[in-house]
Amino acid sequence: MNVLGTTRVLGVIGHPVSHSLSPAMHNAAIRALNIDYVYVPFHVLPENLGSAIGGVRSLEIAGINVTIPHKERVIEYLDEVDDHALAIRSVNTVTNSDGRLRGDSTDGPGFIRSAEAAWGRIDGCRALILGAGGSAKAVAFALAGIGCEIVVANRTYQRAVELVEAMNPAAGGRKPRAVELERDALAAEIAGSDLLVNTTSVGMHPDTGGIPLPTDLIRPGLLVYDLVYNPLRTRLIEEAESRGAKAVSGLKMLVYQGALSFEMWTGIEPPVDVMEQAARACFGAKTGPEA
Ligand code: NAP
Repeated sequence: MNVLGTTRVLGVIGHPVSHSLSPAMHNAAIRALNIDYVYVPFHVLPENLGSAIGGVRSLEIAGINVTIPHKERVIEYLDEVDDHALAIRSVNTVTNSDGRLRGDSTDGPGFIRSAEAAWGRIDGCRALILGAGGSAKAVAFALAGIGCEIVVANRTYQRAVELVEAMNPAAGGRKPRAVELERDALAAEIAGSDLLVNTTSVGMHPDTGGIPLPTDLIRPGLLVYDLVYNPLRTRLIEEAESRGAKAVSGLKMLVYQGALSFEMWTGIEPPVDVMEQAARACFGAKTGPEA
């Protein structure tokens, strides 16, 4: 990769940021397309967020991804924010158009695109979402946006209630519901669900033995999406596949949300397979979940 006087800069801001797979993914796409960009990590402490966004303007950085813990607070520094991002109070992509900064969230759309790339259309499905944190919100709003019926189960029940209440104005006729994250409620819901999405951090490195529901509730044909991508093959993915369910790893969402950001900044659709390979290589793994 040649960095020249003309090279445009992209990047990611976060705290921490050193674990991010985005520089590897985006630079792989830039190399594959042979375009004049470079993507770099920026470690930004919470107290420096405002000056960092000022830097995006003054250094004429073309675009940035925004990761934890800045996704909500960055909103106050932007000129314009997309309606979906505003509804979930989360921005993961900032695009600089001649000094005007626009915020979008590609997490939910990246989830939908990756799920449909693996399974075909999922609009109108009935989805059981485990978890009620930031990623649950992005996924729930995106699924509701394509007419899915949403049930949210969370360890802290009140957070599930708050999530579905926040969704109500946007949900049209299909009212989202909250349930307890416990065996009987999950058994009752899963029987009528097409799609199970794990948005909890259960199963994430280093506690890789964790699984967010009793394994015997997973039935053949169920679509199972685990947002956790470290490890690439979580216990949930293993159990789902061994029980005849169709599983997709969170790495796919990571790749597709990145691809959508890339397209916003450059106007070019990047090669998702190249981005995925680069992300997988960060784990030192050539193989992982196939779906
Ligand atoms: P978050 O906002 O902190 O939410 C964490 C969720 O996990 C909460 O619902 C929490 O429940 C639940 N949880 C934590 N420990 C639990 C346990 N022992 N038992 C049951 N539930 C538990 O986190 P987030 O940003 O949504 O991220 C969640 C996961 O998704 C992380 O593993 C993250 O890496 C992954 N993620 C992946 C992508 C992707 O592109 N693939 C994108 C975003 C996030 P309580 O409310 O009860 O605490």
